[in-house]
Order: sequence, then C-alpha cells, then structure tokens
Amino acid sequence: MNDIELQLADLLGAGAVVSDEGLRERYLLDWTRSTRGEAAAIVRPSSVADVARTVAWCSARGLGVVPQGGHTGLAGGATPIESSREVVLSLELLNRVREVDAVSNTITVEAGAVLHNVQEVAAQANRLFPLSLGAEGSAQIGGCIATNAGGTAVLRYGNARELVLGLEVVLPDGTVWSRLRALRKDNAGFDLKHLFIGTEGTLGIVTAATLKIFPQPRQKLVALIGTPSPQAAVELFVDVRDEFDASLTGFELMAGEALSLACTHLRRARPLPGLDPYVVLLELSSPRAGGTLTEPLLECLGNATERGVVTDAVIASSDHQAQSLWEIRETVPEAMLRHFPQVSAHDVSVPIARMAGFIEQLETMVAERWPQLSPLLFGHVGDGNLHLNFVSPQPIDAEVFGELERAATSASYALVGELGGSISAEHGIGTHKMNLFHRLEDKAHLDLMGTIKRTLDSRRTMNPGKVFPRGG
Ligand SMILES: Cc1cc2nc3c(=O)[nH]c(=O)nc-3n(C[C@H](O)[C@H](O)[C@H](O)COP(=O)(O)OP(=O)(O)OC[C@H]3O[C@@H](n4cnc5c(N)ncnc54)[C@H](O)[C@@H]3O)c2cc1C
Repeated sequence: MNDIELQLADLLGAGAVVSDEGLRERYLLDWTRSTRGEAAAIVRPSSVADVARTVAWCSARGLGVVPQGGHTGLAGGATPIESSREVVLSLELLNRVREVDAVSNTITVEAGAVLHNVQEVAAQANRLFPLSLGAEGSAQIGGCIATNAGGTAVLRYGNARELVLGLEVVLPDGTVWSRLRALRKDNAGFDLKHLFIGTEGTLGIVTAATLKIFPQPRQKLVALIGTPSPQAAVELFVDVRDEFDASLTGFELMAGEALSLACTHLRRARPLPGLDPYVVLLELSSPRAGGTLTEPLLECLGNATERGVVTDAVIASSDHQAQSLWEIRETVPEAMLRHFPQVSAHDVSVPIARMAGFIEQLETMVAERWPQLSPLLFGHVGDGNLHLNFVSPQPIDAEVFGELERAATSASYALVGELGGSISAEHGIGTHKMNLFHRLEDKAHLDLMGTIKRTLDSRRTMNPGKVFPRGG
C-alpha cells in the first residue's frame, strides 16, 4: 500500500481500501473499456459516516474525491484523472434498502443499490420503480441520480429527477446534509436536492434517496413497428400519444441497421423481416387489468398503415415476447460497440417537432461530406433524445477516422444548436464533453454554474476535472 492507502486504511479499516492490483482494474476502467484512469487510492466505505470521514480527510489534504457507482456512465465522469491526487470512492457497499412505504408510494435506498435490485424490491411490494435502462444490472441509484438518468419510460414517469423526493448527501467538506423526506409538496425554502441531481458528483456525494414508486401495470402492450422514414415515425408518435396519453410508456426509434445489428448480436432472427429503414418500439401500459389497450392500438396502427406511416408491425403476445423485444432495443449499444471497432457516440436532444428534420439533414450531410462514415441512430425519440453514432463500416486508419468523426461531430452539434437542442440529452458532460460544453454554452449559464461550484466546493474536492475544467 502507498502512503495515502495506509492512512485511509487507518481511517476506515484495511478492508475498505482496494489495493490488490487485479481488483483495482474494475474501478479504473469504465463500461466502454475506453476510459481508464489511475488513482492514489480506491476506497469502499460501508457507512454514511465513513463516506463523510473520507471526504473530510481528502478535502483537508487537497485530494480530489471521485464518486463511483456502477461505472456505466458514458461521459467519463466516474473515472479518476490524476493518479497521485485523486481517491476513488465507490458506493457499492452502501447498498441497503432502508424502507418501502406502499401507502406513501416511496422507497428509500442507499446510493450503492443497483438499479435492477431496487426494481425487484419494489416489485416484491407490488410496486413499480419505473427507471429502466440497458445498464440497470450494474448502474447504481446514486449514479442514476448524479447523471439524472432517463431510460425507456421517461415519457410516462420522467427522468431520475422527477422520481426523487428526498436525498441524503455528503457535502464537499464532509458535512452530511439529510433531507430524506417523502413529501410530494415541500416549499419550505430552496429545493436544494436539485443541486445534486444531474451534477455528476461535482457538488457532493449522494448516499441515499427517497424515491417515488407506482402501481404495477397489470396490462402491458409492446409492439415493434416498421416505418418508412423518421417523419413517419414522428407522425406515429403524435398519433399514439394523442390517443393513449399517460398509457404511452415508451416510444423508441431504431434505424433498421441498429435492429439488425442487435438481432445478430443476440443470434436471433429479425422480428420484422422487411428491411424497414426505421423501426419503432412502442410500449403501452395501464394499472387496469383486461384487454382495453389492444383494440385501440390496432385501430391506431390500421389508420397509420392506410396513411403510409406504418409498413409492418408485430405486437408481443406474451410477457416473454415483450421482454424479448425490449432486449433487442437494449442490446443495441453493446452490439454496436462490439461490432464496430471505431465508434463516435453522441447523445443529443432536439424538440420533438424538429426530430425528423434533424435526422434527415444529418443523414444527407454525412452521405455528402463524409461518405466513409455511416450514422447509426437509435434513441428515446418520444423524449426528443437521439443516440447518434458515427461508425465506419470498413475499418479505416485510426487517425483518418478521428479526423472524419471530429468534422462530422462538429457539424452535427452545430445543427443541434441551430435546432434549439442539447449536446447532452442523457449522459452528462463528464470529461468527454467538457471542452465542447464550455465552448458552446452560453456565458451566463457557465458563470452561474461556476459560482455554485465555487460556493459549495471552494477546495475543488469533488470530482475534479469533470464538468468544470480543473481549477475552474
Ligand atoms: C448499455 C447502457 C445503456 C444506458 N442507457 C442509458 C439510458 O437509457 N439513459 C440514461 O440516462 N443513461 C443510460 N446509460 C448511462 C448510464 O448507465 C447511466 O448514466 C447511469 O445512471 C450511471 O450509473 P452508474 O452507477 O453506473 O454511475 P457511474 O458511471 O459510476 O457514475 C456516473 C457519474 O455519476 C457520479 N456518481 C456516481 N455515483 C454517485 C453518487 N453516489 N453521488 C454523486 N455522484 C455519483 C460519478 O462521479 C460520475 O460522474 C447507459 C449506459 C450503458 C452502458
């Protein structure tokens, strides 16, 4: 153990320090296996008091603290940058469910609880915790809150922010700030929990949260629908949203190639055999039992087919089939990363009304200016969120790929800006988008963020070099 590790072992007990070289790798390399860091020490505190003690200790010595959840974030935020001055603080041992309250419809969990486990505990109480995303087997509640994760049910239930009622947070000086309130209404002063939601561990460490849970849907309908164009997909979205309102829980778009790629990765036949250029995965749900959703959906799809908006559709006839369709959608990111050695991945949003125009302009632009690249698109289109990826179907020299993707990225972000969109819909800024964010964002917005950061974290303890440039 180095000197910092030895002192942390004194503070927290030797078992809290991960010093074995083989074990350390897991905390230094993220899910994409492309972002790797080094750290002075890695600690896994098992109580809130130990988290507070670690943060106070690091702050007093001018060391940075990198909060780490499941390490599935896609912005490089949970990976340390500077080996000798940063301590990784993994929340994984702080993972208890503290309370499930089926009357208030709340669940209180510690930050290190894995998202899938929280869903399971809620289900055991006949409740739904609706946050759901492809990385839910590893992503932790604290990480989901720190990134304001979205996922596949934002349309109905909102992002993580909308699901948080109360938080417990260790502040950058080690103070524990606790507002684990299960209140739907609380206007007593500033609603400070929002300082810690979506701020990527730069203002404090979330140690626990009180979250909203909901009645379990008793009826669920999942359909995979072929459409001839992004414009048709958006038209279908408007039809379905207007017809079903709050029963529309998911509306995902995949380019036909993305669907094929995921099916190949899963070694399954493509559920829609036609080569539709775009495919929608749609989910309707209702807490009422009975078949009340099927007939109106069939009618809606029938009308859309007559208008040429829908070309083909398959409706899951069992829970198993429904899960299998969702699995295809959730496999797309992994299938893409494993299939293409060179990927430039982006996560943008535009107003829904401009989504089809955005996709069409983007595809034309890339085909004309960078024909060696191919855009591979999928995303939560019902939320105006598109995962936009540039891949190279034929392997090309890494330097050439880098030049092409930088040019395509820059032009795409300019287009996003012109359309009133965001350069980070879901994944945050972390390190990956920091320069871009500071170049493109409005000065008043950046100044206000800087003022908040300096006020709460004057010693720059929390997650240095993420969202804000080091020392900024
Ligand atoms: C296959 C796949 C699918 C995904 N799908 C989606 C999706 O649909 N929607 C979406 O929004 N995201 C998605 N993501 C991104 C990612 O899973 C989410 O952002 C998730 O919320 C990150 O959780 P984590 O525990 O892994 O956080 P980490 O990666 O460990 O950390 C993410 C950030 O949060 C900070 N952090 C972690 N824990 C805490 C804490 N307790 N307190 C303070 N800061 C903390 C870290 O410092 C870092 O800045 C996906 C990722 C993958 C790999």
